[in-house]
Amino acid sequence: MILKKLSALFIAATLLPFSAVAENPPIRLVIHGGAGTILKQNITPEKEAEYKARLEESLKAGYAILNDGGTSIDAVIASIKVMENSPLFNAGKGAVFTNDGRNELDASIMDGKTLMAGAVAGVTTVKNPIEAAYAVMTKSPHVLMVSKGADQFAAQNGLTQVDPTYFKTDFRWQQLQKAKEKEQIILDHDDNKLAALYIDPMMYDYKFGTVGAVALDRHGNLAAGTSTGGMTNKRYGRVGDSPIIGAGTYANNNSVAVSATGSGEKFIRTSTAFNISSQVRFQNLPLDVASKNALKEVADIDGSGGVIVVDKKGNYAMEFNTAGMYRGTIGTDGKPEIAIYGE
Ligand code: ASP
Repeated sequence: MILKKLSALFIAATLLPFSAVAENPPIRLVIHGGAGTILKQNITPEKEAEYKARLEESLKAGYAILNDGGTSIDAVIASIKVMENSPLFNAGKGAVFTNDGRNELDASIMDGKTLMAGAVAGVTTVKNPIEAAYAVMTKSPHVLMVSKGADQFAAQNGLTQVDPTYFKTDFRWQQLQKAKEKEQIILDHDDNKLAALYIDPMMYDYKFGTVGAVALDRHGNLAAGTSTGGMTNKRYGRVGDSPIIGAGTYANNNSVAVSATGSGEKFIRTSTAFNISSQVRFQNLPLDVASKNALKEVADIDGSGGVIVVDKKGNYAMEFNTAGMYRGTIGTDGKPEIAIYGE
């Protein structure tokens, strides 16, 4: 009898860890802070430490929500807000400048469970564009709002407004001056002025700096978000891939959540985020293979950049075809992993 009781206890004890695991499905958050010509020899140890600290803060903000049983959407917003509020990244404060010296911001978010999505483009006064994208998703029947209307909508929904000068940083301002100088050299030597008006980021030391997050929550739901200032020296109301659902952002519980960074026009033309989702969904390809395939299509039309991807099991990929990509991930164990350069 005692033996029987003991063996029952033993069985219960050995099963406990498994039932605990079953009750606690995996969580996963993956973030990026942009890809580009990011080389160790060009970054001071102090700057590198600053980037790592901010990426870690972003991961922890999202993880706290996921670990509490919160939603992947909330985790994505929380981790993106940390990067939007930091001048280090090309999103929110610290965004790049347009040709006429303004900061025009784009952002998008998508819920993999419902396929609901929201996005804003060319906003100039909402402090956190990712929150504006979320408001479009949850408080309007639309997917994409632009410019003044989008700012007005964000204000009406109680989102913090700032003076446009809030986004300005000296570093980005200098970057615009350099881009203009290079553009002038091209204009002076190129008859096809229209083509040269838009500087191809491949032509100079470009670091994209857009931010993004993808997450899997305990309920098995995926979400993705992306936020950016776009490209230095952009003009004519140019909008890139970041607020375009299927290009810079996509999430579907049937496949994956994706956020991209890179030469936006090329990502739009190859529907990068939807491309990865479709490969995983219909061809059952591993996330890194699908990501490499999608980035190859971008490279084939002279584009570059990177993507982050997560699926319902917590598998993830962080792929790029540039020298580096600010990136990080955190899973069920709560240990952040951060990297900047290529292997
Ligand atoms: N993809 C963004 C855009 O084209 C730029 C970036 O990733 O930094 O607007």
